[in-house]
Amino acid sequence: MPELAEVETIARILAKGDVQTPSLIGQKIVGTSVFWKKTVAEPELETFQSAIKNQTVNKISRRGKFLILELDHAFLLYHLRMSGDLKMRYANTAIPLAYPFYAHDHVYLHFESHWHLAFNDTRKFGRLWLTQYPQTILNKLGPEPFDPKLTGTVFFEMLKKHKRQLKPLLLDQSFLAGLGNIYTDEALFQAQLHPKRLSNTLTEEDANRLLRAIRKVLRLGIEHNGASIDWAYKGGGFQNYFQVYQQTDNPCPRCGQPIQRTVIGQRGTHYCAYCQKNY
Ligand SMILES: [Zn+2]
Repeated sequence: MPELAEVETIARILAKGDVQTPSLIGQKIVGTSVFWKKTVAEPELETFQSAIKNQTVNKISRRGKFLILELDHAFLLYHLRMSGDLKMRYANTAIPLAYPFYAHDHVYLHFESHWHLAFNDTRKFGRLWLTQYPQTILNKLGPEPFDPKLTGTVFFEMLKKHKRQLKPLLLDQSFLAGLGNIYTDEALFQAQLHPKRLSNTLTEEDANRLLRAIRKVLRLGIEHNGASIDWAYKGGGFQNYFQVYQQTDNPCPRCGQPIQRTVIGQRGTHYCAYCQKNY
């Protein structure tokens, strides 16, 4: 599943362009093609298609795992969920398209420049919202991990309010926005905290160490353009730097003991039983 680092990478590429694709900023939407209607969560499909037409992309940002296109009169929010990706395709062709350019391209924004932004999603759980009130969707999210207002002390107070195991708590988007399975396992290893450790038992020093670890693994992830694993997202290199995630039975980089895999809150969890004690 694309997490903060992967969504941030996609947002940066769309905003700046890369060697193959132009920037999306300033591009005018001249139409849409929708091949999987459920992808458009809000508004009704016909309203979506007429309302978005002739709007220009002015800004691209990210909040948690949401990617946000700021248009002239509305915001377009994407959530990639399990396997979504946003890809620029070029073709000088009639629109709307009769067929998608590639398998699993479910929604296209067509631009005046003959570029087409495809929402590609094998598993079909990804969604988009066109809304004038993005806060109604985004205000359920907890703070951004890099928010300067999120100090060690604030984070310590947040952890203390809950009596939950660290792994599921960090995955909870209303507690902290942007973390998924990969970065949670990596951050807990960096901080040497057991994934089942109860959040209200952490000292202020533990909380500080955990926040630094979260920021460190996210920064590394972004530096390597995110992690490419299975079908979910391609183009990143952070998978080559995993310390524990999907490293079951490999030696722990710190102590050499085999990395363990367990299931916590229905999520596969990787950790070192020696380095990450539950106390
Ligand atoms: Zn270890």
